[in-house]
Amino acid sequence: MPEDIFKDKETQIDRTLRPKTLDEFIGQPKIKHSLAVFLQAAQQRGEPLEHLLLHGPPGIGKTTLAHIIAKELNVPIKITSGPALERVGDLAAVLSSLEEGEILFIDEIHRLRRQIEEVLYPALEEGKIDLVLGKGPSAQVMRLDLNPFTLIGATTQYASLSSPLRDRFGIVYRLGFYEPKDIETIIKRSAKILKIGIKDKAVKIIAQRSRRTPRIANRLLKRIRDFAQVENKKAIDNVLAQKALDALEIDDFGLDELDRKILEVISNKFAGGPVGINALASAVGEERATLEEVYEPYLIQIGFLNRTPKGRVVTERGLRHLQNSSLFKHL
Ligand code: ADP
Repeated sequence: MPEDIFKDKETQIDRTLRPKTLDEFIGQPKIKHSLAVFLQAAQQRGEPLEHLLLHGPPGIGKTTLAHIIAKELNVPIKITSGPALERVGDLAAVLSSLEEGEILFIDEIHRLRRQIEEVLYPALEEGKIDLVLGKGPSAQVMRLDLNPFTLIGATTQYASLSSPLRDRFGIVYRLGFYEPKDIETIIKRSAKILKIGIKDKAVKIIAQRSRRTPRIANRLLKRIRDFAQVENKKAIDNVLAQKALDALEIDDFGLDELDRKILEVISNKFAGGPVGINALASAVGEERATLEEVYEPYLIQIGFLNRTPKGRVVTERGLRHLQNSSLFKHL
């Protein structure tokens, strides 16, 4: 089995910041509540949890939840991703190696090739896979019984998931952007783990620029901690936080250079829009998928961008932000 179908490129720090139990998982109260019920019910019945799909923007807690579920159920978990499963044999090898009750986490499940997806259907429905041995007229099909397992699929692109795949998940959760107060709690928790003091005002400043996304909150905190260390400060205060964020060119809304470029290009090159996503991607020099999955959701969420049938449009609010942003001026 090729090693790279199991991906774990996380650093040690990221792993220590990751909540380990459902209680430690901050925010998303509705999901936490219903998941706790499903976990308890599955445990009482002594059955694996139903196959579960998590969708939402990057860095919102999908992988974290998958690990938590495995821990809460006290079962092992295997982690892989759609692009890593290149051949039918890769998936067959993973599926046939699963222990009873084990969790298989497939990140970016919308990127699974159709042929490979088709191997998943009988695995999810009947706990079996068909292996084709040999080629041509002498090929033979061998049915293989799998151990009962739970698939957790994660995607940033719910709409591009095929409907037969979507239909095979018993539980589907959409993880939305976090409430600002939850992001503040995450920052405080992470600062404690990283053993760095932080003043309340600094927590607020960082939270405001974290795009309501836990991964970004942690990333900013880690960078600001570097500034604190270099300046020999024991605690992060608002002055230091502001200085570090300015140096990182993150503005008051948490927008970075590419966000501002997107707004600026639509506004100046395409007269405010509408502009098709492909034209926009080539004008800003970024891949279409990155714009759709990473950048647009937040710009739309804060009302700076609209997606219309004819293309992307900058809103009045977005334009105002561009005009007022000092960071924008140098673009
Ligand atoms: P995704 O899989 O959606 O891209 P992750 O689960 O990898 O996102 O989350 C990114 C990081 O953000 C994690 O390493 C974790 O430290 C932090 N994180 C995510 N969700 C939460 C949460 N609800 N509470 C605390 N920290 C979180």
